[in-house]
Amino acid sequence: MAALARTPEAQLTGGDVPKESRVRNDSLRIRILQRIDLGRLPVFIPGTVQAGYGAGLRCYACGDSITRSQIEYHVNDPSYGPPMNLHFDCYFIWQTECVERLRGTSPAA
Ligand SMILES: [Zn+2]
Repeated sequence: MAALARTPEAQLTGGDVPKESRVRNDSLRIRILQRIDLGRLPVFIPGTVQAGYGAGLRCYACGDSITRSQIEYHVNDPSYGPPMNLHFDCYFIWQTECVERLRGTSPAA
C-alpha cells in the first residue's frame, strides 16, 4: 500500500501541515542533533525532495515509524547515500540545522 504522491518537488497541497508539534520539537531537535553528531544524518541540502503520506517506514532522523496519517518527506540524493524518509517535522529540523552548520554554525543576524 505504498501510494506515495510523487510530486517532483516539495509541494504540499492542502492544509495538512502539522502545527501542534512545537512542544515536542525541543526533544526531537536534540535527538536529531545527536544523530548528526554521530554521523547518522548527513549534513547537506538535498536537491530533490518529495512529499507524501507515510507508509509505515522508519524515519531516518528520529527512528519512529511514519504512519499513513503523517506527512513524509522523501530525500533521494545518490551522492549522499541511500534514500531517506523523514517526518515533516524531522525534515524541517534537520534542514534548519544543516543550513546553520553549512553556514558556519553562528546564528544569522
Ligand atoms: Zn522523525
